[in-house]
Amino acid sequence: MSAPSILGEVCSYLACPICGTDLILRDGVVCENAHAFDMARQGYVSFLVGRSPHTGDTAAMVESRGSFLGAGHYDAIATAVSQAVSASAGLVVDIAAGTGFYLARVLDDHPELVGLALDVSTAAAKRAAKAHERAAAATADAWKRMPVGDGQASAILSIFGPRNGDEVSRILAPDGVAIVVTPMPDHLRELRDRFGMLAIQDDKDARLDTQLATLRLLGRERLEYAVSLGPAEVLDEIFMGPSAFHLDRSDVAKRVGPEPLAVTVSVTVSAFARS
Ligand SMILES: [Zn+2]
Repeated sequence: MSAPSILGEVCSYLACPICGTDLILRDGVVCENAHAFDMARQGYVSFLVGRSPHTGDTAAMVESRGSFLGAGHYDAIATAVSQAVSASAGLVVDIAAGTGFYLARVLDDHPELVGLALDVSTAAAKRAAKAHERAAAATADAWKRMPVGDGQASAILSIFGPRNGDEVSRILAPDGVAIVVTPMPDHLRELRDRFGMLAIQDDKDARLDTQLATLRLLGRERLEYAVSLGPAEVLDEIFMGPSAFHLDRSDVAKRVGPEPLAVTVSVTVSAFARS
């Protein structure tokens, strides 16, 4: 399916992020009150309203993310996420979707679903627009009203992303599931210690449950395993995330040796339902 035709299908689940009325496909999308949102040449809709204070991933970060995820080191996370999706029809929304990697995996495994990749970064939305033939992509700020109708998301993915509990509760279907992946303190600890990456707060799961207090925890799975990363993969892992904003790639590159590094992957995969 081409980008406009999948957007036409996804459109029935969407709502204007300004006024909440239904959206229809017309040179991009437009609501009942004539709020219009452009379709970019690269196949994503721009729902960013005004200036966002949130810094999205740069094109270089998206490039690193695509290379790293493509190497398969987080496939076990994608499997756990996809297995937690129970919906038999409808829309899956990936909030802060990045390249659309996890969404594409869910859509591969669940041929009855269509997808919407949301990200504040235009570089990410461009890439996510090509992630899967049944996924539409859009730029949107996860901290504002999302362009999805009340109760219209059969599944929501939030993988290492920001969590706006009020909006997740609003858009999640009564029988829907929100799947949240959170890094644990040991996640990438070998890289954090050695290269000065940002630390992970100790109480991530507790903070997560507070952020999503309007939802009910269905289950939580801990995933921990070791990966062996070559020098280019080490750089991609460090520079696909927020550490890219305060580390210098050429400086770090000089400190990465030629030998593969054993690196710990440690996350929780939590499933939430409406309470
Ligand atoms: Zn509107």
